Amino acid sequence: MEIYLDNNSSTPIDERVLAIMENVYLHSYGNADSRTHNHGERARTIVENARKQVASLLGINSSEVFFTSGSTESNNIAIQGLEEYAIETNKKHIITSAIEHKSVLETIKMMKKKGFDVDIVNPGLSGQVNAQEILDKVREDTLLVSIMHVNNETGIIQPVDILGGELEKRNVLFHVDATQSCGKLVEEIRNLKYNMLSFSAHKLKGPQGVGVLVLRKKRYRLPPVKNIMYGGQQEHGIRPGTIPVALVAGCGEACEIAEDEYKENSRKLKSLKGTLEQLLNDSGADYHYNGEQNCCIDSTVNICFKGVMSEALMLSSKQYCSVSNGSACTSKSYSPSYVLEAMGIPVEDIESSVRISWEPETNKTEFIDNVSKMIEIAKSLAV
Ligand code: PMP
Repeated sequence: MEIYLDNNSSTPIDERVLAIMENVYLHSYGNADSRTHNHGERARTIVENARKQVASLLGINSSEVFFTSGSTESNNIAIQGLEEYAIETNKKHIITSAIEHKSVLETIKMMKKKGFDVDIVNPGLSGQVNAQEILDKVREDTLLVSIMHVNNETGIIQPVDILGGELEKRNVLFHVDATQSCGKLVEEIRNLKYNMLSFSAHKLKGPQGVGVLVLRKKRYRLPPVKNIMYGGQQEHGIRPGTIPVALVAGCGEACEIAEDEYKENSRKLKSLKGTLEQLLNDSGADYHYNGEQNCCIDSTVNICFKGVMSEALMLSSKQYCSVSNGSACTSKSYSPSYVLEAMGIPVEDIESSVRISWEPETNKTEFIDNVSKMIEIAKSLAV
């Protein structure tokens, strides 16, 4: 059987998370906003418990946690939700990077059409954006800087720690898309300074279809983010619509498990990365890593196999490994990765690149067997 090595797209659900969710679906089926009966009250208790679990993982107050349908929605609210404040304060300058997820880039592109002024910085070949370059672009009317914590295609960690401290001094709002780091870089996120942060539960072994927008309070006040959808007052009006109690419970449980196990998980991820590096090193294949590996998270690599078309490699090794060559959201039709393009990687190398992403429970023996077969196929396809 093929091994699943596309965990940056979505992780398998943890059985303990699924058990909690099943219990909620079967026994706690009320609406968390029904005030008039015990079923509603029980559902509300589950939601508030999940909020505490998320807050504990992130080291924040639970009143700063807002449940959404996932990172795409969280990113949209964090950015679009600032429009009213931007108009009131006449701050309409936004800075972001060319390697953000499309849910950030496309949202900011839409803001540009509405008259916002946008600066987009490129990373270097390292895959990392330069914090100073971003800070140099900050102006009197800068509303927002939006930079991801870890890039989904390369695994490269961005300098959000430096940016957080400096942007706070400059009084500029800072949004961090932490979709690929939440539950993994736990202490780093706890020490980060930011105003808004997004993540999706399904990237940390929780269910698909639920995520979080964190709004950090400053002197008891939330950042000036407004709802972008209209309806009920759920999630303080930030995200109207019936709260999906079982999904939220699953999100909370995934966060609690991540908090309990991240140190051990981190060791497992690192060990798998070492194994992969060794396999590649010993294989005799002509390859190189995309992005500076000293800044790369231990769960991802993006590799260029010289002279191998990645589409051919993925098809030929499909029975051994499920990997990808771009983010799932843009991979329906093949076009060269915009992330690798922005890094300045030549097109022929982009076309020869694949992303491999694993999770702590990835079986090491299967990993070695199947990845070895993929590497052999890569060698045979090289021209
Ligand atoms: N941001 C990043 C960095 C991601 O990797 C993803 C998912 N690929 C998203 C945002 C969007 O997450 P979702 O599809 O769960 O909304």
